[in-house]
Amino acid sequence: MHYQKVFSFVFAAALSLSVLAAVAVAQAPTPAPLMVHQLKPNVYWIEGGGGNSGVIVGDKGVIVVDAKTTPAAGKELLDDIAKITPKPVTTVILTHSDGDHVNGLASFPAGITIIAHQNNKKEQETALAAGGKGAPPAGHLPTQTIAKNKEDLKIDGEKVEVLHWAPAHTSGDLVVFLPAEKIVFTGDIIAMQLPDPLIHLEKNGTSEGWVATAKGIAGLNADQFVPGHGDVQAKAAIQKRETDAAAKRAKIKDLVAQGKSLDEIKTAVGDPPPAQGRGGGRGGPAFASFTEVVYQELTKKRS
Ligand SMILES: [Zn+2]
Repeated sequence: MHYQKVFSFVFAAALSLSVLAAVAVAQAPTPAPLMVHQLKPNVYWIEGGGGNSGVIVGDKGVIVVDAKTTPAAGKELLDDIAKITPKPVTTVILTHSDGDHVNGLASFPAGITIIAHQNNKKEQETALAAGGKGAPPAGHLPTQTIAKNKEDLKIDGEKVEVLHWAPAHTSGDLVVFLPAEKIVFTGDIIAMQLPDPLIHLEKNGTSEGWVATAKGIAGLNADQFVPGHGDVQAKAAIQKRETDAAAKRAKIKDLVAQGKSLDEIKTAVGDPPPAQGRGGGRGGPAFASFTEVVYQELTKKRS
């Protein structure tokens, strides 16, 4: 009994030390772990650490859609895939060139196939040449580029359609469609953290192209749509985003034709004040809002 008492005391002391340690760790923000969601027996999406990723387990290898933001998140993604299957990752398909979908590739093995739209590769080369924080990993540029608006690929026994309608979120968007599983990975064409489409003017995205692309996505014979950010959506939600954005764009077009100023148009379409309207209100980079993008396209002005 005496031993047990000593043990209990030591154990309690150790426990309080570990509680202190846990508090110390909690003060340095640790990213939340990634979350794995299954869609079909061989298809998953993995949330967190940047944009959503897709995982498709093929005959002999694994196809990944988008690779997270940091090398650490990229490694965690690979670790999660290793818990799903012992098969190696052979192919990555990139939906666009933004760092939160690309830069985790730094942790991926050398020699894998990296598929992207040709404009995505150009955007990454430009970012790499500019250097600095957020530049893509030099050793993992796309190895296979897509130039056509539709290509039917067969990778590891899996039918994969890659689609591009027009410059939308960026000039190098690629939508990934699995016709057998009726699943679409939309990239940031659909990004649920914002009510309106997010368009990168600096990467030659366009609101007109966004509407065409969203229409194209909604027209696919699919029932699960994995967005670039946020939860899986049904077809009706994609259609609603498309019709809402098209209606807003048409209204802005009318107001521009009436000679209204950008500020007048923002008020007329009910945009939130700048604090919430820019960068999603989360202290993110201040991207142009949908209204600003449409206004600039229609007036060819850059504010
Ligand atoms: Zn993006």
